Amino acid sequence: MKWIGAHVSTAGGVQNAPENAHNIGAKAFALFTKNQRQWNAKPLTTEQIDGFQAAMEKYGYSANQVLPHDSYLINLGHPEEDARRKSLNAFIDELERCHQLGLTLLNFHPGSHLRKIDEEQCLDLIAESINHALENTTGVTAVIENTAGQGSNMGYRFEHLAHIIDKVEDKERIGVCIDTCHSFAAGYDLRTADAYSETMGAFDEIVGFNYLRGMHINDCKSEFESRVDRHHSIGQGTIGLEGFRSIMNDERIDEIPMVLETINSDIWREEIELLYGMINQT
Ligand SMILES: [Zn+2]
Ligand SMILES: [Zn+2]
Repeated sequence: MKWIGAHVSTAGGVQNAPENAHNIGAKAFALFTKNQRQWNAKPLTTEQIDGFQAAMEKYGYSANQVLPHDSYLINLGHPEEDARRKSLNAFIDELERCHQLGLTLLNFHPGSHLRKIDEEQCLDLIAESINHALENTTGVTAVIENTAGQGSNMGYRFEHLAHIIDKVEDKERIGVCIDTCHSFAAGYDLRTADAYSETMGAFDEIVGFNYLRGMHINDCKSEFESRVDRHHSIGQGTIGLEGFRSIMNDERIDEIPMVLETINSDIWREEIELLYGMINQT
C-alpha cells in the first residue's frame, strides 16, 4: 500500500494538520510542529496535543503515516561549536515535540559546512550531533533527507547518508528520506524506468532500502545535476511522469509516508489522484 500525501498547513495550530490532509485525500502527511523560520517556539499546549491526537484518530492516521519536518535554521554540522549547540538544542526540542504528539519520525536536512571545514569533518559533526540528540530523547527516529547539494549543503550523495548512518550508534532510530527533486538535481537520474532502476539500485547498495522511512515526491524546475533546489508540480518539471510511474510501482517502497512538497497546493488533491492512478500501469 502506497501512502501518498502532502506537507500540509498547520495554520491555527498543529491540531489542524490531520483534517487538512484528509481534505485533499491524503494517506500520509508532513507538517512543521513549530514555525520553521524561527528559533524559538512556545511549548505545545495540552489542548494542541489532545486536539492533534483526536484528529489523528478521527481521520484514521497512524504515527507512521506522518513525517514531520524540522526547522530550516538547524545545522547539525555547523563548523562553529556555539552555533552547532544552538542547532542541537533546537533539534532535541523538535524530537520532543514529535514525541509529545505521539509521532515517531522527524525529517531533517543533514547540515552545511559553510566552506569552513571539509565535507568529511562536517558529516562527522552531523553524526556526533545525532548521537547526542538520540541519547537525550526517546521514541522518535531521525530521518535524514538527501539534498540537491545547493550551496555547501551536505547530503547530495548517497555516500553522505551512508557515512552518517555508519557513525550513528542507535541504528534503530536513524533512517533516510529520499526527495526526488533533490536526487535529480544532485545528479541521480529518474527520468526513465532504466534510469530509475539504476538510481535506486545505487541507493540500495550504498544506503539500503531498510533505512528508507519516507519520500518527498516532487518534480523539479531545475536541470539535471544543476545542484539547484527548485520543486515543481508532478509531470510539469524536468523529471516528468515516467519517473513517478516507476516509483508508484516499486514494491520496495511501501507503507512509508510519500509527501508532496510541490509548488501549487491548490492541485495537491489532483496530484495525489494522478499518482495513485499510475499504479500497475507499467
Ligand atoms: Zn526538506
Ligand atoms: Zn524535501
